[in-house]
Amino acid sequence: MKKQFAVIGLGRFGGSICQSLSEQGMEVLAIDLNEDKVNEFANIATHAVVADTTEENTLKSLGIRNFDHVIVAIGDNIQSSILTTLMLVEAGVKHITVKAQNDYHEKVLNKIGAHKVVHPERDMGIRIAHNIVSKNVLDYLELSDEYSIVELMAGQSVHGKSLIDLNIRAKYGCNIMAIKRDEEINVSPDATQDLRKGDIIIVIGADEDINRMEEDLF
Ligand code: ATP
Ligand code: ATP
Ligand code: CA
Repeated sequence: MKKQFAVIGLGRFGGSICQSLSEQGMEVLAIDLNEDKVNEFANIATHAVVADTTEENTLKSLGIRNFDHVIVAIGDNIQSSILTTLMLVEAGVKHITVKAQNDYHEKVLNKIGAHKVVHPERDMGIRIAHNIVSKNVLDYLELSDEYSIVELMAGQSVHGKSLIDLNIRAKYGCNIMAIKRDEEINVSPDATQDLRKGDIIIVIGADEDINRMEEDLF
């Protein structure tokens, strides 16, 4: 059986989730207070309804607890976002993902039982900042305050050298998890094989170790 998703709030964030889920062939119920938004998604989502999700009876009549995953993408109205999330938790929805507007909002959402809280503006800001500071950093995923996974572009400085030549794990304490070359991705790279300019190297480790390695080698 197809997974059933509901997206509450059809702003840019919720709207793009709704669109992408629909494109992947998922069943999606699109919900918004605003009739124009709902009309916009009438031909994209499986169903689109005008509803205020802060009203408990409305949520019940939508049968919200039967959905596999509900995404709350109400942005500016933090109170509505929290109230909606609380009622979804109380209804026993299995997977609830909520967009947070700021750190306090995030804290509250975690406290009341949201399963996943996302903070797209902040996270994208961090990624872009890393990318601006170092032209070799293509992408960045924060694992914790100290550890990350980083995608680095191999340049001339490492061209023709192997992981053994560079001695990365021993010298910097971080691990190359994978190497992307053209369309190929090698998830257990051979330490003896030479890197090439243009390879994309995916490295996991402590931020300070990755920075040190990047400054020395890239
Ligand atoms: P964006 O993703 O574009 O940045 P945003 O974060 O600014 O959006 P808003 O525009 O504040 O988010 O809200 C997203 C949508 O959520 C809006 O279309 C709004 O009508 C809808 N919304 C707000 N409150 C409710 C509610 N109680 N029930 C249903 N939909 C709601
Ligand atoms: P060690 O026990 O010192 O980690 P090893 O037995 O794994 O070494 P090799 O696989 O031959 O030995 O690798 C030699 C060195 O090459 C490692 O010590 C390390 O510095 C580097 N190296 C090998 N593979 C990786 C990797 N995936 N990521 C980072 N460095 C690597
Ligand atoms: Ca916004």
